[in-house]
Amino acid sequence: MKLHEYQSKEIFARYGIPVPQGRVAGTASEAKSATEGFGGRAVIKAQVHAGGRGKAGGVKVALSPDDAETTAQDMLSTSLVTNQTGPEGVPVNQVLVEELADIAKEMYLALTVDRVERRPVMLVSASGGMDIEEVAATSPELIHNEPIDPVLGLMPFQSRRIARVLGLESTAASAAPGVLSALYQVFVENDCTLVEVNPLIVTGDGQLVALDAKINVDDDALFRRSAMQELRDITQEDELEAQAADLDIAYVNLDGDVGCLVNGAGLAMATLDVTSAAGAAPANFLDVGGGASVDKVASAVGIILSDAKVRRVLVNVFGGILRCDIAAEGIVQAYRNTGSQLPIVVRMLGTNVDDGKRILAESGLPVVFAETLSEAAEAIGRAG
Ligand code: GDP
Ligand code: MN
Repeated sequence: MKLHEYQSKEIFARYGIPVPQGRVAGTASEAKSATEGFGGRAVIKAQVHAGGRGKAGGVKVALSPDDAETTAQDMLSTSLVTNQTGPEGVPVNQVLVEELADIAKEMYLALTVDRVERRPVMLVSASGGMDIEEVAATSPELIHNEPIDPVLGLMPFQSRRIARVLGLESTAASAAPGVLSALYQVFVENDCTLVEVNPLIVTGDGQLVALDAKINVDDDALFRRSAMQELRDITQEDELEAQAADLDIAYVNLDGDVGCLVNGAGLAMATLDVTSAAGAAPANFLDVGGGASVDKVASAVGIILSDAKVRRVLVNVFGGILRCDIAAEGIVQAYRNTGSQLPIVVRMLGTNVDDGKRILAESGLPVVFAETLSEAAEAIGRAG
C-alpha cells in the first residue's frame, strides 16, 4: 500500500526527521490561505500515488496567495499524468502547500529490502533530485548501496560512511546519524517495503531536510497496522484491483483482452505465458486462491467480466482444495448475474472435474472445453 507524501511526512515528523512546514488543501481557497500563512509564497504539490510529479507539472512554486489559488485550482481539476502513471493519470484530490525551501544540495536516499542479500539496504546518492532514474541507468556507480544487518540495525560507522558518500559537512554531517537512524526506524517499525526521500536536501544554512517523502507499506503486514490501514486512499488505486484486494483475491490489471481465472499463483503465471505465446494478450493476472467458495469465485469472475476491455475468458483450474464443481458454480453464477455472453474457454482438472464440466455444459454458457494448456491457448486464440 502506498502512502501520500503528506502522510509520509507526518510519520517522518513523529520520528523527529526534519520536514518543511506544510498544510494539506482540498480546495484552491484552502491553498490560498495556507500560502498566506507561509508569508505569501509556497510550493504547491499534487498528492498522488505516483512519482515524477515535478516533471509533469505536479510541483509548482507559487509567488503569491493568488498564484497559489490558481495553481491549486489547475492541479485539483485534473488527473496528473506522469511517467509512472498510465495515460489516464491519477486524480488529484489534495495538494500539499509547503513553505519554500532554500535548496543548497539535492540528494537521494531510499530504504528497501534487498531480496538477494535478504536484508534491508540503504541506497544513497549525492546526485539526487528529479533525474535519479537517469543517474541509475547511466552512472550506477554514483549510487551507494549500504546493506543493513537486521539484527544490528544501522550502525554508527555506516551513518558516517553515508555522510561521507553524500559529501555532508559541518551541521548537516552532525545531523546525519540521527536522521538516518530515524529513517531506518520508520522503515522497520512500520513494515515498509520502501521509504524514499528524493530529494533529501541540505538547506542554505546547512540543515538536512526531507523535501519529498514516499512510503510503501507491505500489504501482508497491514493486518497488524490498523493505523496504516486508515491512510489508504482507494481513489488512487485501480478500481478493479481495489475491489479484488477487498475480497482477498490476488489480481493485477493488465492490458490485453483475455480475462483469466486461475487458482494458484504459479498456474496463473503459466496461464499468462501460454496466453501470450498463443498470440493473445491477458487482461489480468488473477489467483482466486485455494479455499475459495462459490461466492468468491463468482466475485472474481464478476471482476473479470466488469473489465470493459475483456473480450474472452480463459479458466484454468486445477481442482485441489478448490473443487472443480465449486469453481463451475461460481462461474455460472457470475455469468447469470451479469448476463455476459463472452466466450469462455475452460480447462479443468482434478477434484470433482466431471461435476464441474457437467455444471458448465448444462448452463448454456458459450463454453469450449480444453484438456491441455496448449489446447486452451489455441481455443482462446480462435475465440478472439
Ligand atoms: P517528484 O517529482 O514527484 O519526486 O516531486 P518532488 O517533491 O521531489 O519535487 C520535485 C522537485 O521540485 C525537487 O527535486 C525540487 O527540485 C523541487 N522543489 C520541491 N520543493 C521545492 C521548494 O520548496 N523549493 C524549491 N526551490 N524547489 C522545490
Ligand atoms: Mn521526489
